[in-house]
Amino acid sequence: MDLYEHPTFAMAARQFDLVADHLGIPEQDRDRLKYPKRALAVSIPVRMDDGATRVFFGYRVQHHLSLGPTKGGIRYHPDVTLGEVAALSMWMSWKCALTGLPYGGAKGGVAVDPRKLSPGELERLTRRFTQEIISFIGPQVDIPAPDVGTNEQTMAWMMDTYSVHAGVSVPGVVTGKPVHLGGSLGRREATGRGVAYLVGRAMDTLGIAAQEATAVVQGFGNVGSVTAYSLAQQGVRILAVSDVGGGIYNPEGLDTRALEKWVTSHGTPIGFPGSQPISNDDLLRLKCDVLVPAALERQITGENAGLLQCRILAEAANGPTTPAADEILDRRGDIFVIPDVLCNAGGVVVSYFEWVQDLQSFFWSEQEVVDKLFRILEGAFVQVLQQSRRGQISMRLAALSVGVKRVWDAKKSRGLFP
Ligand code: GLU
Repeated sequence: MDLYEHPTFAMAARQFDLVADHLGIPEQDRDRLKYPKRALAVSIPVRMDDGATRVFFGYRVQHHLSLGPTKGGIRYHPDVTLGEVAALSMWMSWKCALTGLPYGGAKGGVAVDPRKLSPGELERLTRRFTQEIISFIGPQVDIPAPDVGTNEQTMAWMMDTYSVHAGVSVPGVVTGKPVHLGGSLGRREATGRGVAYLVGRAMDTLGIAAQEATAVVQGFGNVGSVTAYSLAQQGVRILAVSDVGGGIYNPEGLDTRALEKWVTSHGTPIGFPGSQPISNDDLLRLKCDVLVPAALERQITGENAGLLQCRILAEAANGPTTPAADEILDRRGDIFVIPDVLCNAGGVVVSYFEWVQDLQSFFWSEQEVVDKLFRILEGAFVQVLQQSRRGQISMRLAALSVGVKRVWDAKKSRGLFP
């Protein structure tokens, strides 16, 4: 099957094969679990501000339909391909199953650099993309959300385009919307908050005191920034952060409140007073207690995994660590990995809460959202840690096994249809 050929898909497939071997999944059941159920590729003509027409390419992949509608973000990034989106949809399946959400995984994306488009061009692109996939999504079919390069405004345009088509407001078609359009309190902060909660649990497990701990965060988008602020609130010293343009470092710790103001007015952490520049390679190798890759896939590789100097690797991004790096980390045995499908699950968990609130038109307080989020993450963390210890297997293998097994069980009980 070469439709999805891409290094990130190869990586997700390799992880699945290891899980399938571990669980003893028969050969004849493997392809049904591994390959996406369906995928849609669309071309999106957009009238640009200068009057010219440009065509962009977009995708939506639904990984499995065995547990309910599918769920997952929409990514705007120049490197988006069908294979990458398929890999991300597979990870969404294991993530939703691990946290007990009634969803299969999905992902979508458009190959575009959103920073190079005007707000008007972005709106026209988003509305036309939504139009092209309109029969493929819906509150009982497939529910998009933000991912890299998209945000609340993107979701508002998607919700509006879908609603105009339906003739009534349909807030449950997307999550991660503005709160005034049926979004959930605490959704924007959910992923970073969840990462910080799980880092706290990992520190408890290893006997590290937050007040004495240090952290480094790669990627300063929604997830990386909220993770940094939430860790700082726990007393953790943030040594370095980075975004696409490069990194900043201060061995004494960055003042995250002042940094927040700086980023709001400058759009990037770069140039923050009192910090020195640091390259992405050096940032990943800094000595720290907690390293948080919160950017894109395949950052921790066979080349640099042996050089990491952290005690906890908190995978806020999807797929930041390659299987070659996993082998090295397993051999080293000195780094506690919080695998992506667990670590960043807070986002989709609160997306699920948002969907439930939209379907019922009954909205919760932020405290209710946070309490329910932490309860789900706590259960998943304890389960993964127990499986890892009992089976003497890595945290990644444990987390993926719980997710894959739930989907496998659902497929066995239902039969061949979904
Ligand atoms: N894009 C996020 C993820 O990778 C959130 C998906 C969602 O909320 O549906 O988990």
